Amino acid sequence: MTTTRFAPSPTGRLHVGNIRTALHNWMLARKNGGRFLLRIDDTDAERSREEYVDAIRADLAWLGLEPDGEQRQSARLNLYEAAFETLRAAGRVYPCYETAQELDLKRKIQLGRGLPPIYDRAALDMTDAARNAKEAEGIAPHWRFMLDHSEPIAWDDGVRGAQKFDAATLSDPVVRRADGSWLYMLPSAVDDIDMGVSHVLRGEDHVSNTAVQIQMFTALHAAGFAAAKGAAKTHPDFAHEALLVGREGKLSKRLGSLGCDAFRERRIEPEAVIALLARLGTSLPVEPIADRARLVESFDLATFGRAPAKFDDAELDRLNTAIVHQMAFAEVAHRLPEGMDEAGWHAIRPNLSQVAEAGEWWRLVTGPVEPPEFSQEDRAYLSEAVGALSWGDDPWRGLTDALKESTGRKGKPLFLPLRQALTGLDHGPDMGELLPLIGEVRARERLARAAGE
Ligand code: GLU
Repeated sequence: MTTTRFAPSPTGRLHVGNIRTALHNWMLARKNGGRFLLRIDDTDAERSREEYVDAIRADLAWLGLEPDGEQRQSARLNLYEAAFETLRAAGRVYPCYETAQELDLKRKIQLGRGLPPIYDRAALDMTDAARNAKEAEGIAPHWRFMLDHSEPIAWDDGVRGAQKFDAATLSDPVVRRADGSWLYMLPSAVDDIDMGVSHVLRGEDHVSNTAVQIQMFTALHAAGFAAAKGAAKTHPDFAHEALLVGREGKLSKRLGSLGCDAFRERRIEPEAVIALLARLGTSLPVEPIADRARLVESFDLATFGRAPAKFDDAELDRLNTAIVHQMAFAEVAHRLPEGMDEAGWHAIRPNLSQVAEAGEWWRLVTGPVEPPEFSQEDRAYLSEAVGALSWGDDPWRGLTDALKESTGRKGKPLFLPLRQALTGLDHGPDMGELLPLIGEVRARERLARAAGE
């Protein structure tokens, strides 16, 4: 069973990069008939906010990426405690007493000597007496996970291919603060085991976290914790996708705050966001595909590139326009102006780049319209049009055929004054579709008024 998860920290709104990760996890699960879970990573009580939890759920709902289940880390602290005890018993976590300033100083010295700033494991050399002295001073330890330097770290990444890390080049990560609270690394691995996550798909900024977490999975497995949770594999499959950058190819601050609110404000359809993000950064063409089943069907990690994916607002706008042009009346009916029926939607749809513009175009039907000043010659022509108007199956065709015949006009001089008189504009929806919607009474009035009658 494929189980994926999207694990945002509720310390802010989802941005387009998070949305892309959520979407890809959703697609991976759907493609394999699996489950897509939401996990709220709220172990950081200070920075997590309930309003962001609500906003994350609302954004996923707006995008149509509703999860098959939800967990939140703040409700699972007992589980982390149990995993921690397992690791402690196995000697894989150890207490440390350095202050932030001491650690900072160590790092500076290492960097000054041209050495990588890796934690020196000084805490492992502390005597019991030294530890007791710290405790007696009221100094509680923070805890690090002890990486196994003899165990090579390797995985076959779904996007990046074979990955290798030497554990000795990594710092033993702090997993728990002195106040007992948890850092991201261990709870995430514990949850992935407990929630039965089979695939972890996330941004490439997590690659080195994966190296560390693989050792956590392995240690938990070896200590029997994972087996107790029914985990079959030692660790999930990992895939890290290239990051999203701005059109100019750089990590962009703007993208970091661009999210569903901004899309809604710009009246972008969720399907346009989905169509773009589904394929951005892959070798598949970005196309205005509103049918999610098609997108899901074509989803394949093997198509994901390693180069950063470029997000372009103009591309999103183009996709939105193309998707609006495909939308069926039933899908949009509740968002259309009063009285606008299926024929109205079909007449107006090709002129829209956003559904919300339907109201403006619909005013061409309901009026009032403001025709331009016509020349005397055109007024005479429009006067003739009033007489020529007859209401058959295709009144526009009837009107223009009759006027072509009687006036000898053709092309623009034949059509434009009529359009201007009937709509007040010199461009817009197809008149053949629009005129029946305007109706005979209004059409006659508008032509007569424009003719100066
Ligand atoms: N809360 C983490 C983040 O937002 C989750 C990363 C992960 O997918 O494991 O970066």
